[in-house]
Amino acid sequence: MGDLDNKLSNVVGDRTAKVLADAFGIKSVGDLMRHYPRRYMVRGELSDIAELHEGDEVTILAEVHSSANRPIRGRKGSILEVIVTDGREKLALTFFNQAWREKELKVGSQGLFAGKVGVFNKRKQLAHPDYQMIPDGADVANAIDGFAGKYLPVYSATSKMPSWKISQCVDMAIESLDELTDYLPEEIRSAHNYPTLQEALVQLHKPADLEHADAARERLTFDEAFLLQLMLVMRRNELKKLNTISRKTIKGGLLEAFDAALPFELTGGQLSVIKEIEEDLAQAHPMHRLLQGEVGSGKTVVALRAMLAVVDSGGQAALLAPTEVLAAQHVRTFEKLLGPLALGGTLGSAEKATRLTLITGSQSAPARKEALSLAATGTAGIIIGTHALLGEKVEFNDLGLIVVDEQHRFGVEQRDALKVKAQKPPHLLVMTATPIPRTVAMTVFGDLDVSTLRELPLGRQPITTHVVSVLEKPAFLARAWERIREEVAAGHQAYVVAPRIEAGSDESSDTDFLFGLESPDIASVMQLAPQLATGPLSGLRVAELHGRQSSETKDATMRAFAAGEIDVLVSTTVIEVGVDVANATVMVIMDADRFGVSQLHQLRGRVGRGTSPGLCLLITSAAAETPARARLDAVAATLDGFELSRIDLEQRREGDVLGSSQSGTQSHLRLLRVLRDEELIESARADAQGVIAASDDLSSYPALSAEVALMARDAAIDYLDKG
Ligand code: ADP
Ligand code: MG
Repeated sequence: MGDLDNKLSNVVGDRTAKVLADAFGIKSVGDLMRHYPRRYMVRGELSDIAELHEGDEVTILAEVHSSANRPIRGRKGSILEVIVTDGREKLALTFFNQAWREKELKVGSQGLFAGKVGVFNKRKQLAHPDYQMIPDGADVANAIDGFAGKYLPVYSATSKMPSWKISQCVDMAIESLDELTDYLPEEIRSAHNYPTLQEALVQLHKPADLEHADAARERLTFDEAFLLQLMLVMRRNELKKLNTISRKTIKGGLLEAFDAALPFELTGGQLSVIKEIEEDLAQAHPMHRLLQGEVGSGKTVVALRAMLAVVDSGGQAALLAPTEVLAAQHVRTFEKLLGPLALGGTLGSAEKATRLTLITGSQSAPARKEALSLAATGTAGIIIGTHALLGEKVEFNDLGLIVVDEQHRFGVEQRDALKVKAQKPPHLLVMTATPIPRTVAMTVFGDLDVSTLRELPLGRQPITTHVVSVLEKPAFLARAWERIREEVAAGHQAYVVAPRIEAGSDESSDTDFLFGLESPDIASVMQLAPQLATGPLSGLRVAELHGRQSSETKDATMRAFAAGEIDVLVSTTVIEVGVDVANATVMVIMDADRFGVSQLHQLRGRVGRGTSPGLCLLITSAAAETPARARLDAVAATLDGFELSRIDLEQRREGDVLGSSQSGTQSHLRLLRVLRDEELIESARADAQGVIAASDDLSSYPALSAEVALMARDAAIDYLDKG
């Protein structure tokens, strides 16, 4: 008899325990109890193949008619296709890279098959269905009656450890359990009307009915959100206990001079975020704030003001940028905005001036030496750089603020590598242009306070986006090049974006076939630029920009483009983040279906930044009514980055948000989905805050405290930390 920590071998025997450990890393009874069923097969819901509709979740009883494993054309991997029949109609089951299943799915044998009906090549199919084969010789009626009226749990399984065997092990594990201590405080459990931990675990595996299964699943999903929020709330409280130098804004400093010279009015949104940041900086504990905002909403100015406030108070501020192109652009922008205020210690400087310096990996040795000395002596108040800022040789006189631009490119380790260069824990402002829904922010960036810029500066022109299908209307591509010529003739500039640097290298994904994507020649910068320059865009000044160029080349190209010396920039996504050239009005994105929704939104945010309207053309050969095409239509339909990031998360990445090892047994986040479970996350957050308010180190809740500690050690949580 035992608890969840009991070794599984004590319960199911050494041999079986070893198979479970090898297959899923399951070692304890608790690990097995947390290997939740993916679904249940229900006896009463067997479906006729003839009556299946696309999108239905079905379970059918059928016989294997034939099977064939074939390589995928033009790329790695194989597809196992199994045809099953109910005696009247046939249905295809497809498995990607799982040839071994052919042995289980023997021709002539019967089984139950469950999954979601899809249509591919006009034929109904189940992709990666769950199944339960009826053992040879068993009477079919009996085998089915064996779980008549019951819910047969279906588990992630392997060839050595099929689902039914896992189910048997779970039975033994349940039998072995004494009464479990529930870590969820009783008052919270009863307020939500949740089952106890033990009831929930048992009912999830062996539900009396689907309501019980749902209640169990909700309780266990809540647990995940609750433990995560507890951990994050505690972490935030720890940060508040740290001591740092308060950086109050002063009268008559750089900041005032800067505001006076600013060529535009700050938006209401900018002003209120600025206020939040100033209040944070004035505290004696470090700021930890995420600034998220629509593309073009003016985050840079907000960050620059925070940096100036810190410089005014005698400290230094560092800005960490994800690419050299962006770091160099920040220097140019700051120099422009600051004017004489950035010329400290030189002729022509303003009275209160400071200095800017740039630190990148590719700068010349003398330039680097000078930059290092400006930073170390404190002469430079503002230090801008790429990863090179994190280098050992980089020292500061008094680093008071770290600004991280485009957060998603940096991890916590990198922020920390900078933090240790300060004498006291510095204030931190991270900026992201990929807006994320509130609960995602609460989950992924739960230890940061969040400020949001929703509004765009006044006078910003809307961007019109069109999907251009070269399958349906090949001539429209010519029209796209004509539009570029027209914009250039009107004095504007254009971007052409291609997914690849060079032709040929096939980076298409193994699963494209599932989405009906063909893999034609994907556009590349090196092929496209000369074609355009000698063909449809001949006579225009066309230049290339991509990650394989030296940083001098990239920088020179960006400068020339910003100065209007280049008409058309043919580029990879190096221009995705932050690049700001107001005169660029049109962007043509080749093979747009190759990009994610948020990425496309980022890309098109490069046009329409000045006073003329922006135009973005999404060129695609994805067929109508494919998911790829639907994503493009979504991008064309709205300019709301929050909406799009939600679509993005729903379609591709929700799992990734909570960590790639989410399905691994080590993870504590198996059930939680940040979008689907928004309400649950909100209420878990409130409950977590209540508990911490009552006992800030959880000492009054020992079982809960132990559970949170377990989560904090979780590998998946490490992933979260990387933001
Ligand atoms: P993002 O939030 O995408 O980083 P930027 O900070 O690059 O946006 O700002 C986009 C452009 O808008 C820049 O050229 C910036 O100078 C300008 N800008 C910022 N704030 C305002 C404002 N309040 N009014 C007018 N233009 C602004
Ligand atoms: Mg920016």
